[in-house]
Amino acid sequence: MAEARGAIDQAVELILASRNVIAMTGAGMSVESGIPPFRGEGGLWTQFGGPDANQYQRFLADPDAFWARELQQANEPYIVELRKTISVAAPNPGHVALASLESEGVLTTVVTQNIDGLHQAAGSKSVIEMHGSRHKMRCVDCGDRSPREAMFLQVRPAPCVRCGGRVKYDSVLFGEPIPRSVLEEARAATDRADCVLVVGTSATVRPAGGLPRIAKSNGARLIEVNPDSTAITETCDVVLRGRAAAILPELVAEIGLVRPGHTPRQR
Ligand code: NAD
Ligand code: ZN
Repeated sequence: MAEARGAIDQAVELILASRNVIAMTGAGMSVESGIPPFRGEGGLWTQFGGPDANQYQRFLADPDAFWARELQQANEPYIVELRKTISVAAPNPGHVALASLESEGVLTTVVTQNIDGLHQAAGSKSVIEMHGSRHKMRCVDCGDRSPREAMFLQVRPAPCVRCGGRVKYDSVLFGEPIPRSVLEEARAATDRADCVLVVGTSATVRPAGGLPRIAKSNGARLIEVNPDSTAITETCDVVLRGRAAAILPELVAEIGLVRPGHTPRQR
């Protein structure tokens, strides 16, 4: 595939010519870890139906009813399935590739829409979780976060130890605003970047989906990794058509080969 080879070479060239490379990742990043995305073929919404757009308002209106439903695992079927898949998932070679780019000083940060924690499990240190984490709890009144004690909770979480406020999962519900500090961190990372690897996202969920365009308008170069075209394909400088778990390790291998003083990897 000469064309694909050429695109990988262009991506490597762009990455190595940049001073601040970040990755923005979406649900497609974790598909090969067994966690389906929401949209498209095999997507959770395609299989089980779409979401209730007012999840957060339901929580605020009646936290007792919200928690009763949660503890009985009586959620919308797509949520039940998402949780099952996340609870057994492990990082795939794409997550490992991004972690190794960070440890080699090539990548500074991952801004992810995923809640699965697989970037950290693969070794990434600088991760901004725009939609929160399935592994944490958060007080909606003061923003304090704490580790989640179990993947499937048996008892309702106690009020916040810091302010006595209402505690929910850190994962952002439909209708819930993204915490301001997270938005600011993601925006700052976007503004610092001069090259963005956009991996496995349809770029349709706002505000996260708007960040690649903001980076582009700041003058950053965009490299898309996705088997399908997306809302931002047209604005990307290089498009790598394929699965994250295949393309990202290939990119890392190529970068290893062309960096001066770097030991080439086995391919
Ligand atoms: P999306 O469902 O809108 O789109 C997924 C994208 O991934 C598509 O563009 C698709 O072509 C691409 N894709 C599919 N398989 C791929 C692969 N193997 N490699 C690379 N790309 C692949 O996802 P989204 O834009 O991230 O938005 C969905 C929202 O749902 C997110 O905001 C996220 O919070 C949440 N979500 C998270 C998880 C998770 O944590 N793993 C899973 C499902 C949904
Ligand atoms: Zn609190």
